[in-house]
Amino acid sequence: MDATLVEVMRPLLDARAVTLWEAVPDADGDRLLNRARLERGAPVPQSSPAWMTLADLPRVDADPQREQAWQSRQTRLLTDDGAARLLVPILTESDRRLLIEADFDGAPDPHRVQVAEGMARIFENFINVLESSERDTLTGLLNRKSFDDAFYKATRVTPQAPDGPHGQRRPGSGGTHWLAVIDVDHFKSVNDRYGHLIGDEVLLLIARILRSTFRHDDRLYRFGGEEFVVLARAADATAAASAFERLRRNVEGFPFPQVGRITVSIGYTAVREHDIPADAFERADRAVYLAKAQGRNQVRGYETDVQTGEPETHRGAGGDIELF
Ligand code: GH3
Ligand code: MG
Ligand code: MG
Repeated sequence: MDATLVEVMRPLLDARAVTLWEAVPDADGDRLLNRARLERGAPVPQSSPAWMTLADLPRVDADPQREQAWQSRQTRLLTDDGAARLLVPILTESDRRLLIEADFDGAPDPHRVQVAEGMARIFENFINVLESSERDTLTGLLNRKSFDDAFYKATRVTPQAPDGPHGQRRPGSGGTHWLAVIDVDHFKSVNDRYGHLIGDEVLLLIARILRSTFRHDDRLYRFGGEEFVVLARAADATAAASAFERLRRNVEGFPFPQVGRITVSIGYTAVREHDIPADAFERADRAVYLAKAQGRNQVRGYETDVQTGEPETHRGAGGDIELF
């Protein structure tokens, strides 16, 4: 969709280049992600590589003009030495900030500016419609509907894909995706003691903690109720374990208004080649079950803790782990 937008707009505006940017929140300020850019004469649009980490992207505040376009919600046409730059902000209902930027060799026709604005509004509506169907209304996280598709897309094997500039493996090149199921501990008692409204607020705040804990391209879901799912990339098992442990700690350390302390139990599994979503989900779910059984507020990995069994779980006949 992003690539199509710039492919349609570049010739329509007769611009030197058209770029679709998105501001992505990061701990030390927003970063600028290139979703698609097409230059005159280039065969296909380019975008920020998927393996790029946020810290490698330019900072949004490095260019105050873009910030101003978003803040004023108005198109800006900037001219400099004959060249012109058109900035059309796009603000979605889910508070995402996108920007269409067109570079011109000379001042563009006013009607081209109108075309750019019209296209931006169509694109904005399109995103809003798409997002509302695949997002959970309470938390704004993705809902279950889009999970299977994303799972297959993320795990599609691309053997010839080159590794990233710093040796990071490309998403899709097997073994780099992890699926975690996160279940709130004793959530029923939160509702019972403080009411459903406070319960909902807790879910909303946990969604926020999820967003701030994971990377912009990790996929965060609410699977209904008080259960969350994360499909995240990590270099190896250690990196995955520490990311999910960080989430556990972030929730534990967050002062929830009225309620105080809330904890979560987390189970995760490595996504395998030719995996199917239901299987991966079930493995992570079994790890959650173990985390609950072993005291809650814990992180357990299917491969490390369920499959091999920790010493204290080796009580079943013949050394089998009988959890269910
Ligand atoms: P455990 O530590 O074993 O997970 O205990 P729990 O109480 O969290 O588990 P259980 O599955 O028994 O309870 C889940 C509760 O979550 C049941 C329901 O009251 C609550 N719940 C489910 N969906 C929502 C929701 O959308 N909003 C609110 N406020 N509560 C919800
Ligand atoms: Mg539950
Ligand atoms: Mg629960």
